[in-house]
Amino acid sequence: MRKLSKAVESVESSVTLRINSKAQALKKSGKDIVIFTAGEPDFATPDEVKNAAVDAINANFTKYTKSSGIVELRERICRKLKDDNGLEYSPDEIVVSNGGKQALFNIFGAILNPDDEVMIFTPAWVSYAPQIIMWKAKAVEVSTSSEEGYLPKRESLESNLTDRTKAILLNSPNNPTGAVYDRKTLKMIADFATEHDLYVVADEVYEKMVYDLEHISIASINGMRNRTLIVNGFSKSHAMTGWRVGYSVAPLEISKEIAKIQSHTTSNINSIAQMAALKALDVDTSYMMIEYRKRRDLIVDLLDRANFKFSKPAGAFYTMIDVRDFLHGKTTEELCMDLMENAGVAVIPGDGFGAPGFVRISFATSQEQIKKGIERLTNYLN
Ligand code: GLU
Repeated sequence: MRKLSKAVESVESSVTLRINSKAQALKKSGKDIVIFTAGEPDFATPDEVKNAAVDAINANFTKYTKSSGIVELRERICRKLKDDNGLEYSPDEIVVSNGGKQALFNIFGAILNPDDEVMIFTPAWVSYAPQIIMWKAKAVEVSTSSEEGYLPKRESLESNLTDRTKAILLNSPNNPTGAVYDRKTLKMIADFATEHDLYVVADEVYEKMVYDLEHISIASINGMRNRTLIVNGFSKSHAMTGWRVGYSVAPLEISKEIAKIQSHTTSNINSIAQMAALKALDVDTSYMMIEYRKRRDLIVDLLDRANFKFSKPAGAFYTMIDVRDFLHGKTTEELCMDLMENAGVAVIPGDGFGAPGFVRISFATSQEQIKKGIERLTNYLN
């Protein structure tokens, strides 16, 4: 038998998607289960967005588009970047991709050579390291702690720097901790990247969900525009997970490479979804954000009252609970399976995020479900 790719063999499939599918299947089979697994908004995609897609079909907007996306959408994204983030880009510096995931994968492909290193701050979303590894490069985990609000320290960047370090990946607001990077932390990372001539890959997909601080794009910090590569998308901000629309924002010479990768892999994303996304940028979704804030307040209150140790989210819609006292010899994944099957509450084990002994809760679900789920968790574990 011929051997397979060692790099691909060495990574696991996405744990968030795997456990979420299992929970959804159990629910479909009739089990009463509270689902705190995937970070998927429970809101419907706004009607205006759906109607724009229907109109696109009826107008036969169903053919190939430019591989990196229709110019109207890329122009509108440039306007969004200016209005929301104070950033100036041209449409050729935007590539519209199949969700943030493809945008990120293209970015890594454009900047990494075999054995290059990318620093990622753990706990970190489950797909960063596998994507880097699949491009035959190395993900270097730089740990952050709850005591420091899950923000990285200059010392840990210094101690993980090698002559192969190519980029730093940051994700603020953060999945899974809910941390939002303040200006001081971003400035520290920006200075470090500049001193060592590193790229910064900034996943800003949760930028609209900030409760306690403001979202700052690191590209807006002096001198950072030309070394920052931004990933964003519509899944979270506009409840459009299934439409698969994301985008990368990068200086022209890098965007050209990103566009090249996409032209040889998937070509353009679905033409209809592009028209939906164009409309989405004119739709106000602040009603969703108001509700997420209420849910954040509620879950913090419930977890506090039940005496759990957890990260208080300043952004995104996740929190991580420390379950080390409840493992009793089980792995975190075994505990999660136990909770799913016997307590009727589905959560994601922290192992894939570089946080064994913790579970992640997504509170992108109703207040009623949050109350029910935390009650089940509390009763089962205590
Ligand atoms: N990003 C979301 C999450 O972390 C969706 C699932 C995934 O792509 O990992 O739950």
